[in-house]
Amino acid sequence: MKLNLNIQPLSSWLNLSKEPLVIAGPCSAETEDQLVATAHLLAKTGKITALRAGIWKPRTRPGEFEGIGSIGLEWLKRAKEETGLPTAVEVATAKHVEEALNAGVDILWVGARSTANPFTVQEIADALRGHDVPVMVKNPVNPDLSLWIGALERINNAGITKLAAIHRGFSSHGASTFRNEPMWDLAISLKTHAPDLPIINDPSHITGNRDLIGYVAQKAFDLDMQGVMIESHIDPSVAWTDAKQQVTPAALVDIIENITLRKPEVKSPAISDKLAELRSKIDKIDDLVIQKVAERMTIAEQIGKYKKDNNITILQVNRWEEILKKTTDYGKALKLSAEFTEKLLELIHSESIRRQGEVLNEGQEQPAEKLTHV
Ligand code: PEP
Ligand code: MN
Repeated sequence: MKLNLNIQPLSSWLNLSKEPLVIAGPCSAETEDQLVATAHLLAKTGKITALRAGIWKPRTRPGEFEGIGSIGLEWLKRAKEETGLPTAVEVATAKHVEEALNAGVDILWVGARSTANPFTVQEIADALRGHDVPVMVKNPVNPDLSLWIGALERINNAGITKLAAIHRGFSSHGASTFRNEPMWDLAISLKTHAPDLPIINDPSHITGNRDLIGYVAQKAFDLDMQGVMIESHIDPSVAWTDAKQQVTPAALVDIIENITLRKPEVKSPAISDKLAELRSKIDKIDDLVIQKVAERMTIAEQIGKYKKDNNITILQVNRWEEILKKTTDYGKALKLSAEFTEKLLELIHSESIRRQGEVLNEGQEQPAEKLTHV
């Protein structure tokens, strides 16, 4: 399903002359000196397109630093005047929108916690109506593509056409390398729904760890995202928020210089021919895979019929374990990871079971179920 968003290209609201596109600045504006000095160092690198800073901070627990508030808008104004960098802040209420617009902030963004709440998004959207300001919408904290899309639609319906999404990863339970799991497939899904919508990656909030920022940023560009937003602080060791993930402007330069930009379209005819040849091989194999899976389903239905006639249960755990073991071993021998083979088999197997269920319970209404392994 393609989304019906009315949007303008990124170049209508951001200067795209610096490649890659990097929006940078501290997690939070803390003091006038910290913000202005950081902005100067960032501007001097010549690699930054816009300056970010949190003024109102949505903190998980009360009692933590909740942002410097409106006074920070004055500091941002000064930073912009002195460096020429356009500014970006997070807004979470109608009042934030009004204050940020009055202070001449150039770009607003909706934070992950706000995107998860349609009431909040609608309040922000209503406050934006009639203003021609660029807005970036972070993904919601939970891995729910519809909430992300819904927030983009609400903002777009309020007449905001200078729109982008920010991919900042998703909360998950249990130990992980990442502060917020990237779940790249969700960002890719958004791209499929809205191919023209720019997506900016936020490796700072995905990793929560400055050492991994370069790795995630590279991956974002490899997936054809349009830019990155990276937290940078003049002295991360004393940052009031997100200290572990902020980098000095000098470290940021290192990260940016190590990024390899690849083009989505191929210019050279030789490369293009070779790619076309390899792709046509892949297409043929995909056709075969689908054909074989379909054949497998027909056989599964025959088995279902046989089980029905002989009153046998659909699932025999031993049989499934045997298939899993045999096939993952075979996969390993062919250099497919056990995890991959297992996932693929589970998907195929759950569809087989569903088909057999239809055969066994013919004539009965089958509620639609999500494809998961039994
Ligand atoms: C931020 O960008 O500082 C921030 C609070 O991010 P998020 O909404 O992604 O948690
Ligand atoms: Mn932060």
